[in-house]
Amino acid sequence: QNFPGDFSNNPVQRNTPKVLFSTTLPVGFENPSLLIFNENLSEEIGLGKYESQDLDFLVGNNLPENIHPYATAYAGHQFGNWAGQLGDGRAILAGEITNEAGLKTEIQWKGAGATPYSRHADGRAVLRSSVREYLMSEAMYHLEIPTTRALSLCFTGENVVRDMMYNGNPQEEKGAVIIRTAESFLRFGHFELISAQKEYNTLQNLTDFTIQNYFPEIQSEGDQKYKDFFERVCQRTAELMVEWYRVGFVHGVMNTDNMSILGLTIDYGPYSMMDEYDLNFTPNTTDLPGRRYAFGKQGQISQWNLWQLANALYPLIKDEKFLEEKLNDYGNYFWQSHDKMLCGKFGFNELLDGDEEFFTNWQGLMQEFQLDYTLFFNRMENMTSEGDLKSTFENISYSLLNDDSFKKLEDFIKRYQGRLSKNTISHLEAIELMRKNNPKFTLRNYLLFECIEEIENGKTEMLHKLIKALENPYQEIYPEFSKKRPSKYNDVSGCSML
Ligand code: AMP
Ligand code: MG
Ligand code: MG
Repeated sequence: QNFPGDFSNNPVQRNTPKVLFSTTLPVGFENPSLLIFNENLSEEIGLGKYESQDLDFLVGNNLPENIHPYATAYAGHQFGNWAGQLGDGRAILAGEITNEAGLKTEIQWKGAGATPYSRHADGRAVLRSSVREYLMSEAMYHLEIPTTRALSLCFTGENVVRDMMYNGNPQEEKGAVIIRTAESFLRFGHFELISAQKEYNTLQNLTDFTIQNYFPEIQSEGDQKYKDFFERVCQRTAELMVEWYRVGFVHGVMNTDNMSILGLTIDYGPYSMMDEYDLNFTPNTTDLPGRRYAFGKQGQISQWNLWQLANALYPLIKDEKFLEEKLNDYGNYFWQSHDKMLCGKFGFNELLDGDEEFFTNWQGLMQEFQLDYTLFFNRMENMTSEGDLKSTFENISYSLLNDDSFKKLEDFIKRYQGRLSKNTISHLEAIELMRKNNPKFTLRNYLLFECIEEIENGKTEMLHKLIKALENPYQEIYPEFSKKRPSKYNDVSGCSML
């Protein structure tokens, strides 16, 4: 298949006739240049190798004849309130392509110009937000967490003015366009919009289309089909949340328009990986003081979001009792999966009586001594034997530890070793389990910050190192990335997101 492929199939346009989309063309850029191209992804989805003439397509110039780009409309609950109609404000769908094996992939430009849903904004993206999305979505993919992906990042050649959220001053930044891909970009918000508009036939068409294409495991008919669909979306969402907890990912804007119906991580804005463990951590400066989207609330908020989806699907399911039951089950399923995930991180092959209390004990210590989440589990591997406990904890703590702290940590390690001895797998197998569940590399916010500064100064060495590191997150490729955040970066939590 030739780059950029055959785009004659436009899934949303075909299945929701006359609603949910508007034909939209990228604005085009006169002087684009390529910063990153994801060769592996390109091969995988059937686009092959990059050649210099492909640059035009990557920024939305000189489009092929068979292409009919569009932006979609969706609605959503933002920060707990119904926000009415929203839509792709700076994403334009090129359509769907199919590789030789039949794998279908949707492709969209982000930052290629205003759409009918941009409201007063410009539809542009800046280098900073584009690098953040490109690198983090690829990092999630290599951590084996469901996510949208990134195919390319190009400079547009123009500058874009942005008000910096943290100081309110306008600033010029380099414009950029990324191409991102997903099996589907459908969000809870798409279902919410047509349901709110009482377009129930369209709602049914869209749901049927979604089930048929993305939930092949659902074989039931009639109302049961929609019940099964809701149940599967709940499961996928719970599994995604648990995966976020596993690696310490904080999304930062879990509005229902940012929730993928497939359970993918979508909309990389003010997200951050967690350095010091903190259930109250939010990287989103607009989420203060409420901290609705803090690390520790993501499970609960995803359930709240599923309530909104349940309301939207109600006209198809018409069974309140069923929906309430599934939403209650969600909490149980989430906590069961969460406990299982923590077992994996600690190297326990099964959950035993007393483990939940052990986890609570652990959480308290993490929070009290501000221990680095990623490094803690990497160090635990050696804590199974005698290690220098003091220096180990000093190197992974963001607070000052005293004799009393060391005593508490030592007690915990003893308790941990006692618990490990109850495993019914060997010590080596336990280590293997831990290595599979605990990344050695996470894309910390300060690393992104440094990388973006370098790119702005015309250097790409760090960018390429980060790409190599994030492609191998369960190995330690660069020891300098396996350290806690340097104190000079203590206030680099979130960046401006737009
Ligand atoms: P988010 O918080 O990323 O979900 O964004 C909220 C809404 O604002 C979405 O509908 C975006 O498409 C839209 N949006 C954000 N930035 C821009 C921009 N520069 N131009 C147009 N729309 C935007
Ligand atoms: Mg969004
Ligand atoms: Mg966004």
